[in-house]
Amino acid sequence: MTNPTTPVRVRYAPSPTGIPHIGNIRTALFCWVLAQQTEGQFVIRIEDTDRSRYDADAEKAIFESLDWLGLGWDEGPGKGGPHEPYVQSERKQIYIEAAHRLVESGHAYFDDTTPEQLHALRERQRAAKQPPRYDGRGRHRSPEEIEESCKAGLPITIRLKVPEFGSVSFVDAIRGKITFELKELDDFVILKSDKMPTYHLAHILDDHAMGITHVIRGDEWISSTPRHLLIHQALGIEPPEYVHVPLILGKDKAKLSKRHGATSALEYRDLGFLSDAVFNFICLLGWSPGDDTEVMKREEIVKRFSIDRINDSPATFDAEKLEWMNGVYIRNMDEDTLMGHLLPFMERPESEGGLPDSVTRPIDREYLKRLLPLVHERLKLLTEGTETLDFFFANNVSPAAEDLLGRKMDIEMTERALATALELCKTATSFEPEHLETEYRALAEQIEMKPGQLFSPIRVATTGKPFAPPLFDTMSAIGQDRCIERIENALSVLRSAAPASTD
Ligand code: GLU
Repeated sequence: MTNPTTPVRVRYAPSPTGIPHIGNIRTALFCWVLAQQTEGQFVIRIEDTDRSRYDADAEKAIFESLDWLGLGWDEGPGKGGPHEPYVQSERKQIYIEAAHRLVESGHAYFDDTTPEQLHALRERQRAAKQPPRYDGRGRHRSPEEIEESCKAGLPITIRLKVPEFGSVSFVDAIRGKITFELKELDDFVILKSDKMPTYHLAHILDDHAMGITHVIRGDEWISSTPRHLLIHQALGIEPPEYVHVPLILGKDKAKLSKRHGATSALEYRDLGFLSDAVFNFICLLGWSPGDDTEVMKREEIVKRFSIDRINDSPATFDAEKLEWMNGVYIRNMDEDTLMGHLLPFMERPESEGGLPDSVTRPIDREYLKRLLPLVHERLKLLTEGTETLDFFFANNVSPAAEDLLGRKMDIEMTERALATALELCKTATSFEPEHLETEYRALAEQIEMKPGQLFSPIRVATTGKPFAPPLFDTMSAIGQDRCIERIENALSVLRSAAPASTD
């Protein structure tokens, strides 16, 4: 299907039963993109009719995910619109009335089969190696019998009468024509005994009432679509265009799940991913612009998105690619913007991955700005700001003795390296990186060590880590006094480790 040229009305209709995962959010994102492209409307509707599975935290997470990804909606909770309310539990009466109308028109019927009877039926079918299905017994119940069951307090449902023969078809925008034989379907519930509609009935009534033109949803719903087509027929309304998007698999080809790591947009936010990078990455799960372009700004995605380039085979979730993409977005950012993103991560409590609690908040913005060029190119995640920069902010560092020993260096040699480095540090007339580099290179020559042999223990002494940004820029940013202190401390660490390691 080529892209609609008139404004679409699309909806994201999550059930607040769990934290929305990437696959679920992808539907929201495709809807949003299509609405932007056609200057249509993006509607949010909360499908909370299964009250036993309602989860307030999940609902909160849905809105938080949309906000974080910048998927603003034109109509829906918190925004209002001409089709309020946008929460299904508040639309109960609409569904009850429609279900009763379907009974009156002969398309549906009341059923008083009890859960126990249904269970016994399924058991018998299982024993006879038949597929479990409802046998339509309610079709033969008289209004009086139903009335009696109702008075006796038995649960009453409304089921749709599914024709016994024939077929229904629809044209899926991605997979083309799909046909289902009706003999495979049983009479299914449209209104539950608690007077709540099933998803099947509720979403159709709402999509119709809200003027939804395109239903974009996961392809796990394809098998339910014949039911939806039958409800449309019974109601005498036209179905929307269906766009069933493919499943998302992990790299091992198994359905994406917790086993593969983070699966919700909010987890990625907390892991230090940028909303723009996640947006870009999710768009490419099942869709591609048709060439090799991967890194695309929102506007470009909105311009290039096309339904006919959505794949019909499953998408693969490649977490490494997401990390790479995040790195690209970070590199493309100017330093002020990067700083704005890093600060909340660095200023979190230490227990949540922030800088040591001993570092006073708010941290020195000017100082951070000076440090950013040293790490900017290498950052892939916003959380890495803390681990790559913590030693600049900390009062002191605690290098491990084994890290202080450079390659092919023993304690004695390392001690000599550090002791001479300390002297030079104390007498340095300038702490500019270029000056330090000249001086320390000359020192290496003088004490007959390779530059790397001298620099490695200094790096560990001043930063506490074997890997850090370029040494002389780092020393310069740490400053002379703290460098002196840290090298002195490293020497005492080394000396106290000496007897044990020479045993
Ligand atoms: N409430 C359904 C879900 O969360 C919506 C499916 C649809 O988009 O029609 O999966």
